[in-house]
Amino acid sequence: MDDASYCETPATTITEADAAAGPPFAECVLCREPTEYPESAKGATLCPVCAWQEAGRSACSG
Ligand SMILES: [Zn+2]
Repeated sequence: MDDASYCETPATTITEADAAAGPPFAECVLCREPTEYPESAKGATLCPVCAWQEAGRSACSG
């Protein structure tokens, strides 16, 4: 019998689906896309796209 076989650990591959179903992400307040922030994040959460647009907008508004 192969000694090494008993200590083999079962495959624990984390798929993308598992990762997507992991922590709940807050919705973007503008486009309702999932953001990279957790739902517990305080304040308005913005997805990277809207955050970038808002940053540009606020930078231009004097
Ligand atoms: Zn957005």
